[in-house]
Amino acid sequence: MDDVLTLGMDVGSTTSKCLILRSGAEIAAAALIPAGTGTSGPRRALEEALDKAGLKREDVAVVTATGYGRATCPGADHTASELSCHALGAHFLIPEARTVVDIGGQDAKALRLNPEGKLVSFLMNDKCAAGTGRFLEVMARVLEKEVSDLAEMDAQATGVVPISSTCTVFAESEVISQLAKGVSLPELVKGIHMSVAVRTASLVRRLGVTAPVVMTGGVARNAGVVRALEKELDTPIRVPPLAQLAGALGAAIYGWEHVREKR
Ligand code: ADP
Repeated sequence: MDDVLTLGMDVGSTTSKCLILRSGAEIAAAALIPAGTGTSGPRRALEEALDKAGLKREDVAVVTATGYGRATCPGADHTASELSCHALGAHFLIPEARTVVDIGGQDAKALRLNPEGKLVSFLMNDKCAAGTGRFLEVMARVLEKEVSDLAEMDAQATGVVPISSTCTVFAESEVISQLAKGVSLPELVKGIHMSVAVRTASLVRRLGVTAPVVMTGGVARNAGVVRALEKELDTPIRVPPLAQLAGALGAAIYGWEHVREKR
């Protein structure tokens, strides 16, 4: 079979991700635009990925959309469930992955894969902002920082200021009152990361922890959360370099499987 290009779009709540795959095997290009569903993000991500690969839309056999905004993704040929795409993407990046923890902008998922990489069970929190990227964004704003600054701050902490509220709104007030007391910012950030880790660990434990554990989604880029979750679960966590693009990669693999079936 000649090279077949498939394109995966993961239209998230905060970020649009696009990835082009060559014959289900080789990543040709990827793009990530920090603007999610309902914005120009999906279109810009698609254009940027095509540009980087030196391709036109018509060179691509199929565009598969996944993520929160998949139903309204411009230019998509079909859609695929987020869970299937995250499982496919994580398995491609780390084939031995058995537990996948995906924390995005507005939900957290725990997936269990069998040794062949098939999704066998999952649990999801999409009802509450606590334990998601949204929680971290709210806290970063209160601290006048970017989410991308948080891991480095956490690494400087010598202790921790724990956050006891589980609700995002109450936790925000708690952070503000800690700031008023003049606590150390790195220690406060560590407490914020621990709060996300505690929520996530309870989801993962309910599913059952089978090693190796892999983390995907945008929050996997925050090494402070990854370290806190490793501690909470008492197990090492592997983070692939394209962690935030795992869903888009899975969508491109889904598209490739669809094309292969039709031939
Ligand atoms: P969605 O698909 O819902 O848009 P993502 O999986 O793209 O979600 O993750 C978005 C989240 O990732 C943000 O809420 C933020 O907490 C986190 N994030 C994004 N970029 C970074 C970064 N550079 N460093 C740390 N965290 C990040």
